[in-house]
Amino acid sequence: MLKVNEIYYSVQGESSKAGLPCIFIRLTYCNLRCTYCDTEYAFYEGKDYSIEEIISEIKKYNCNLVEVTGGEPLVQTESVQLMKQLCDDGYEVMIETGGSLPIEQIDKRVSVIMDLKCPSSKMMKKNRYENIKHLKTIDEVKFVIGSQEDYEWSKNIIKEYELNKKCQLLFSVVFNSLEPVTLVNWILEDDLPVRFQLQMHKIIWDPTKKGV
Ligand code: SF4
Repeated sequence: MLKVNEIYYSVQGESSKAGLPCIFIRLTYCNLRCTYCDTEYAFYEGKDYSIEEIISEIKKYNCNLVEVTGGEPLVQTESVQLMKQLCDDGYEVMIETGGSLPIEQIDKRVSVIMDLKCPSSKMMKKNRYENIKHLKTIDEVKFVIGSQEDYEWSKNIIKEYELNKKCQLLFSVVFNSLEPVTLVNWILEDDLPVRFQLQMHKIIWDPTKKGV
């Protein structure tokens, strides 16, 4: 059984799939406590579902793209089996993970969107750098940047691990903390090979709205 916080249909707000219709499976629990977390409601609340029940729920939607998210979906190890089943059933599957737990057991057909936590998250020490060697070209590494220190740190990590040779890189701002134009200017000044993104769902809907 998996504890599920919510299952909903919306547009993908982030990543290279931003703007596409997507079914979201938000699993309960997170092992991190980022300063800027906007999904604290997923830390404990949820209802038990079997994998079959989750799949029958998502079959209600006419959509082939599915994201498994959280919280931290990898806290519940059965999430790996869920993703495999979704792939076997022909879905295009993504997972959003905070980057502190192992990713190597995830089915290779799944696109892993992995955070590397920056200093202002106060969770930087939890980054599992061994994950980097398991990244595939269909994966994406996300940096959520709240300050110039975060930006400089991210730049250094990209250089140190040659991340731009491994997969796509995403830079976004901590909502209401760093001005998007500031981050965009830094990226352009440094010719950084990263994709700037805004959390589209927070612009389309009220930023505190759940289930979108
Ligand atoms: S990893 Fe995600 S869900 Fe967990 S505390 Fe950080 S922002 Fe919140």
